Amino acid sequence: MLALGAVAGCAPTRDAEEIGHRLDAVRTDKVKLEAFLRPFPKGADLHNHLSGAIYAESFLKWAAADGLCIDRRHLALTEPPCRNEMVPATTALDDRNLYDALVTAFSMHDFLPDDETGHDHFFATFDKFAPAEAAREGDMLAEALQRAASDHVVYLELMWSPGMPEARKLGKKVGWDRDFARLYKKLMAAGIDKIVAEVKENMNLREARAHDILHCAEPAQRQPGCDVTVRYLAQVIRVFPPVQVFAQDVFAFRLVKADPRFVGINIVGPEDDPISLRDYSLHMRMFSYLHGLDPAVALSLHAGELIEGKRGGLRRVKPEDLRFHIREAIDTAGARRIGHGVDIMREDDWKQLMAEMAARHVLVEINLTSNAQILDISGDAHPFMSYWDAGVPVALSTDDEGVERIDLTHEYVRAVQEYHLSFQQLVTLSRNALAYGFIPGANLWADMKRFAPVKACANDEIGDGHPGTECGNFLASSEKARLQWRLEAELAKFEAAAAP
Ligand SMILES: [Zn+2]
Repeated sequence: MLALGAVAGCAPTRDAEEIGHRLDAVRTDKVKLEAFLRPFPKGADLHNHLSGAIYAESFLKWAAADGLCIDRRHLALTEPPCRNEMVPATTALDDRNLYDALVTAFSMHDFLPDDETGHDHFFATFDKFAPAEAAREGDMLAEALQRAASDHVVYLELMWSPGMPEARKLGKKVGWDRDFARLYKKLMAAGIDKIVAEVKENMNLREARAHDILHCAEPAQRQPGCDVTVRYLAQVIRVFPPVQVFAQDVFAFRLVKADPRFVGINIVGPEDDPISLRDYSLHMRMFSYLHGLDPAVALSLHAGELIEGKRGGLRRVKPEDLRFHIREAIDTAGARRIGHGVDIMREDDWKQLMAEMAARHVLVEINLTSNAQILDISGDAHPFMSYWDAGVPVALSTDDEGVERIDLTHEYVRAVQEYHLSFQQLVTLSRNALAYGFIPGANLWADMKRFAPVKACANDEIGDGHPGTECGNFLASSEKARLQWRLEAELAKFEAAAAP
């Protein structure tokens, strides 16, 4: 059961060798590889936007049930009543052509770049299905949990934006002030914590709805999604005026302090949007200020999701825009993880930056399909292996599995096929994802590179059902370590089944 080398630096055992052969036997066959990797325990999906996680078919089903309308010309959902050219959303359920066209409009399904780039089609999907979200957030959560379970994900960290529209409204009302301390006070006085309290209440309802859908309280019908541990990142949207971004930031920090289900903050929206580009450094300084007030709040920031366009030079960005985003996210804002980091080699002094990321254990969330679809970057053009070689921790994640029409297993398949990963590398990706999750508690690993356990568990069989007293006490004190322990147990089980 120790075959995965849970003890630091162990040479691979015979079982690990055997499982490597099993992987080699299927690595070129996508169907067999998917079947092999589906039950492979994946520590976490750390980069998953809830609204992008939902498949178009679900939005269409909910839109029909909730009486929404379809704008046939723009292939988008709209609020009722269905006036003028709008038709009831139920129409799509009986009209195969309309249904297919909507699935294509709501996702990257069948997308072929012509006049529209993958980038533009991708980001345009969100507004098209947005009207279906408001009444269905619990349903969305249930879908994300259920899919994570089918991928054998232990821990899901979902990005979600509840309360952000209200925070932006408050920001607009309060008005911009270049003095962050003064603006912070104004937002507090204007009642930003009221939004926090409302979101806490609403989250109870959404989680209760998801648990109902998944029958979590009924042993006979209980769905696997109930067993996925989930936490949230408050998602700040960056394409708004500075005061509204700052108001969202303040709200996000207050929410993380007030509600333990929110374990960190992210910033989202197209990084090449003119506002995102213009205000990038300002946004990082906002985080720097707020992080100074609350250093314990964890940040994972989208940074470096930029690249020159293949057709016709730089797309939307100037060369200068590629030179500092990742560095400022880490050095100025204090991000502990980076989402994407695709343009790292265009950053100033990128080798030093990578060395710094390795030394400071800044993990990069790698979203292979997303980068291929939005940025047209894949294979050797992607820095995934460069990060790996530089000792920067990496983990695979989905980004927007519904819009991309993928799941996390798909990303493991893709990584194996594009980068010829070994079984031990897959185990590292799985362990990294959980080890760098923001779920609270001490890490099971004292050495994050060699996966050597903390002293309390140094003499235990990692993942065993009966840890010793000292290790048991350590596990009782740390939710993260308990999940890591569970992952090790599942990895051992997978290995035993795959290499009997
Ligand atoms: Zn993302």
